[in-house]
Amino acid sequence: MSNIRHALTVKRADDFAAWYQEVISAADMAEESGVRGCMVIKPWGYGIWERVQYLLDQRIKDTGHDNCYFPIFIPLSNFEREAEHVDGFAKEMAVVTHHRLITNGKGRLVPDPEAKLEEPLVVRPTSETIIGDAMARWVQSWRDLPLKLNQWANVVRWEMRTRMFLRTSEFLWQEGHTAHDGELEAKEHTLRMLEVYRACAEEDLAMPVIAGEKPENERFPGAVETWSIEAMMQDGKALQAGTSHYLGTNFSEAAGIKFQNQDGDQELCHTTSWGVSTRMIGGVIMTHGDDDGLRVPPTIAPWQVVILPMLRGKDEAADAAIVDYCDSLKDSLKGTVACGEKVRVMVDKSHGKAAAKRWDWVRKGAPVVVEVGSRDMDNGVVSLLRRDALWAESGKPDFHAPSKHDAAEQIPAMLEEIQTNLFAEAQERRDANITRDITTMDQLADFYNDNTQYPGWVEVQWSKPTGAALEQVVEQLKGLKLTIRNVPMDAAPIDQPCIFTGDTAVERIYVARAY
Ligand code: AMP
Repeated sequence: MSNIRHALTVKRADDFAAWYQEVISAADMAEESGVRGCMVIKPWGYGIWERVQYLLDQRIKDTGHDNCYFPIFIPLSNFEREAEHVDGFAKEMAVVTHHRLITNGKGRLVPDPEAKLEEPLVVRPTSETIIGDAMARWVQSWRDLPLKLNQWANVVRWEMRTRMFLRTSEFLWQEGHTAHDGELEAKEHTLRMLEVYRACAEEDLAMPVIAGEKPENERFPGAVETWSIEAMMQDGKALQAGTSHYLGTNFSEAAGIKFQNQDGDQELCHTTSWGVSTRMIGGVIMTHGDDDGLRVPPTIAPWQVVILPMLRGKDEAADAAIVDYCDSLKDSLKGTVACGEKVRVMVDKSHGKAAAKRWDWVRKGAPVVVEVGSRDMDNGVVSLLRRDALWAESGKPDFHAPSKHDAAEQIPAMLEEIQTNLFAEAQERRDANITRDITTMDQLADFYNDNTQYPGWVEVQWSKPTGAALEQVVEQLKGLKLTIRNVPMDAAPIDQPCIFTGDTAVERIYVARAY
């Protein structure tokens, strides 16, 4: 089908990074802001985020959490209380030092030396230390536990290498924070929230993920255990799409989060935290996008069905009749249900040529585009295009022409089919790009040196070295631009020695190039 004229100028196979950037602009999702590492999220990109937010918020509430909001400014001393936490975040923190500016006589604004803050305030990179203070106030007795909080917010981490959605200096996220009366409960909760993330990624975003524990060197600063969901992008690289941390009593000790147990003794709480961010949107682009732009899974599409009246602009009455015809299709669709919710349908009455508008919606990835011209109307049909199967064998857009009545009946099932298809396609590609028969470092090096384009992930077995021995492994892998992604939860039994040390292996791990 080489005669297809795709809607983007860059193809995934030619330059994946440039393709990614082009999708973001062609789908009108976001743009650079002029402030280093910060982006402007435009309505279509933000609409997708709102859908993710809405669905995930329900899942978080269904697991018993309440939303709350904490200040964006955190006193510097809060961070100094947990040594590992401050070490991990120090190099990425933005700090407010003054509360007033003055003109310096040359028309420039400068911080007023008289208005220096007694204690600098950090713009939150994450909120364990400030929510920990509140938990210490709110938890007195075992009856107050578990305490399960969540906050939707923006955070700032001064990232050196940024890329839209995937790694920005300011990003939007949710951060959950919980306190429990024991290690077992807190660890169980860490995994429960990892499962919530897996379900959100796979069911809502149609993005298959592998859930597992991060190795020691990849732990969140201050955590005892870090778990992640990892997704494979179409270039074979891994994306850490969400993390859930068991924090032990580290933050409880720092903030004094204690409770009186049933015997009347004081005990430290065990806490957890977990977050997913706007990075998820980058994951959706690199999982589902194609050479015509984005394909948004129906569950997270702001509009699932876009109806385009093909207006001529010559005969007002004729145009009005087409708009009425479109509105009546919209009205019949509005009452239908797909993927568990009312179908989201809009009629795009904006100015512009119908064909140009069609391609705009194709690039944005609206799951179903319906066009209606005067001839369609006369025949009582519509021209329907499915975004996940855009091209016919002939190399032309694969329009279907059901009657208006049949379209209203068929579209909900079609949306569900698109959701399922996108997931299946991504899962098949992921599974086909995991290699499992590599048992030596030489083989691993050859594999990644030979497959320079899209090598995918390799599953290997290891002896779980710690400390300096782990650092050595990390360095070895770094030489191949590889990292350990996670220790998958549902792995096959061990049947090989450790690929790094030759010792008896204890676990399987995924190694991959990553975002
Ligand atoms: P963390 O608090 O470090 O565990 O981060 C929670 C989640 O936020 C990670 O799993 C990432 O998906 C996401 N994340 C971390 N840093 C960034 C960033 N700079 N830009 C966008 N998302 C991020």
